[in-house]
Amino acid sequence: MTQLEFISKVAPAAVDDMQKHGVPASLTIAQAILESGWGTSELATKANNLFGIKGTGPAGIYQKVSPEYVDNKKIEKLSDFRKYNNWLESVQDHTAKLLEPRYAKVLGASYRAACQAIQDAGYATDPNYAQELIKRIEKYKLDQYDSQGGQTMPLPILIIDPGHGGSDPGAVGANGLKEKDLNLQISLYQYARFQALGVPVVLTRTSDIALTPDQRTKLVRESGAKYCISNHINAGGGDGAETIYSIHSDGKLAKKLAEALSTSGQNVRRVFSRQGKQNYDYYFMHRQTGKIETVIVEYGFIDSKQDDVAQIQRDWKIWAESIVKNFCEFIGVPYKSQNPQPEKKPVDKVSIEVNGKMLRVQGYLNNGVSTLPVRAVAEAVGVSPGWCPDSKAVTVNGKQLTVTIEAGTSYATAREVALALGLQIEWVQETKTVKLKGCVTV
Ligand SMILES: [Zn+2]
Repeated sequence: MTQLEFISKVAPAAVDDMQKHGVPASLTIAQAILESGWGTSELATKANNLFGIKGTGPAGIYQKVSPEYVDNKKIEKLSDFRKYNNWLESVQDHTAKLLEPRYAKVLGASYRAACQAIQDAGYATDPNYAQELIKRIEKYKLDQYDSQGGQTMPLPILIIDPGHGGSDPGAVGANGLKEKDLNLQISLYQYARFQALGVPVVLTRTSDIALTPDQRTKLVRESGAKYCISNHINAGGGDGAETIYSIHSDGKLAKKLAEALSTSGQNVRRVFSRQGKQNYDYYFMHRQTGKIETVIVEYGFIDSKQDDVAQIQRDWKIWAESIVKNFCEFIGVPYKSQNPQPEKKPVDKVSIEVNGKMLRVQGYLNNGVSTLPVRAVAEAVGVSPGWCPDSKAVTVNGKQLTVTIEAGTSYATAREVALALGLQIEWVQETKTVKLKGCVTV
């Protein structure tokens, strides 16, 4: 069982109990990790006991020698532990224990406060117990379960691997451009986009750190993901993109991702796989990532004599987005492009009454200021506004107004319009109406 699988197995019961009783799910999961060694302890495997709770359980007793702290000194002691039929029973029993009055401060608390409270209440004798829990909650981002309304994170479908990093810059361009930075930039963008689209996704690195091939591929293998996109920038003087798949793969995903780049303006050199010794892949990302479908994407050449360098810097986001789109299509997840237009602010309409008569047209509130269509208001009192196309100025009664033009209509503030026409002005808040009164003497 991988760490993610362990978390996925314990989290639903933990979240459930949090919602029923207020025990933070992060605390429950962290304790399960710490106490059971990710479900590998003797108690977890032989007695389904994830939390090391002592006594008699629904399935009886399990006897075991365990360390105890007496006056901050570690000693070994034979004890009775509760035996359960399954892990769910163990999680529920853990919750029941935390409902004892001495753990009152744990309920509904933030994870830091909960960890301290559980130590203060004497749950464990280890003086570093709270810190050990907090460390795990932060390392594995378990607090995400505290804010989830009953939903637990599914296993990731995709792991994105920003190639190189830290002391390994990857390919380096003439202008100081480093592959590792471009890889990370592209990967973080895609990560955010996949999250926004609801595609469960993780990364091998989120910052400028070095990973050995073993560390990198271990992260991929243990992620629980089905697919891996390993982002790279090429070097060697060519021009264009390449995608590379395992010799054991059908290459369909690699082809789909290459299409993404060609449809978004990059020339694709080739889609290929490369065999190394015997029946093994040449590239370690394929050789060491097991059953996971790994595609290496080379977006372009950092030392291209043609247009790649300029293209990468200008178009990387378009290419990265196109990869997101085609991956979604490949796995059958609905894709939505990022809102290209800024969202329009909802418009607050304002009614206009001139000498007791409601106008058919409306004005609007602009940052709390009533703004009225100049022509409609002027004509309602028998005045024709003038329009100077050169200066784009609107005049009323020989007075120039400051206008904004929306859909061919000139608007000015109610105050300015009223002043130019010599009208009295009144604002009725309840009905959002501007009342104008008076007659115009021309
Ligand atoms: Zn590379």
